[in-house]
Amino acid sequence: MRVRFWGTRGSIAKAGPTTVRYGGNTSCVEVRADDGTLAVLDCGTGAHGLGQALLAEAPSVDGHLLIGHTHWDHIQGMPFFAPLFVAGNRWHIYAPRGLGQHLEDTLAGQMQYTYFPVSLQDLGATIHYHELVEETFMVGGIEVTAQYLNHPALTLGYRLRADGATLVYSTDHEPFARDVAQTDLRAPIGAALTPDDRRHCDFLRDADLVIHDSQYLASEYPAKVGWGHSTIEYAIALAIEARARHLVLFHHDPLRDDAAVDTVLSSARHQARQLGSAMAITAAMEGDQIELPALAGREIAR
Ligand SMILES: [Zn+2]
Ligand SMILES: [Zn+2]
Repeated sequence: MRVRFWGTRGSIAKAGPTTVRYGGNTSCVEVRADDGTLAVLDCGTGAHGLGQALLAEAPSVDGHLLIGHTHWDHIQGMPFFAPLFVAGNRWHIYAPRGLGQHLEDTLAGQMQYTYFPVSLQDLGATIHYHELVEETFMVGGIEVTAQYLNHPALTLGYRLRADGATLVYSTDHEPFARDVAQTDLRAPIGAALTPDDRRHCDFLRDADLVIHDSQYLASEYPAKVGWGHSTIEYAIALAIEARARHLVLFHHDPLRDDAAVDTVLSSARHQARQLGSAMAITAAMEGDQIELPALAGREIAR
């Protein structure tokens, strides 16, 4: 299984010289199984680059788009995702089942004529919509398990298994018990977990790669309570508790420039070592590729 980052940022695209290394595009991650199955995790503005790259490889491309939730930063690239415009392409789009509105209507909303000149119905590709609850299903050669996260919109995390490797994509998630968001990493988090947070920890269990919301620092969290995001400290402590092999810090705050991500990352690694953990920790960087499990979650090829 190969993972490639096309959008790493949370909330809003933040292009410019201060974000050029980690990337300014919002959430979009490409996953390829060895059998060729293409799964795309979220469709933020990073989907534009992915779509162009896919069509440069082959004129016809089918795939599966797994959307965690329909906040803007996770769907805004969809009207610019070129494979959806090509007749004959077949795409499956998955997202949480809403409480009132169908998925197709929600996605069509951002493509109303007032906002965008092409409607969802006029896209060339054949699109199949799948509204999810917590469940396990197959997309091509990848087994996907969906589990709810804690966010101001109905949001699913996805656990993907293929080719003997496991990847968990868990973004836009706030700890259920708010005090663990401010864990200081001086002791394992296990004893502090409530049943809901324990369940989330189990969702990450033994994964080769965990891509986790880490938008805030624990010191920033008091001003962000209820916004639906994790702290870096919580993500690290939880991934260690879950015995993940490699944690990728993801959904970088638009206010965190490249230098700030560097600082946070080196501090995160230092704190994890103090806990006695050998887990690899990296910060999601646009363009990075990770091969699973061949690189054992340690090395990254650009
Ligand atoms: Zn988001
Ligand atoms: Zn969100």
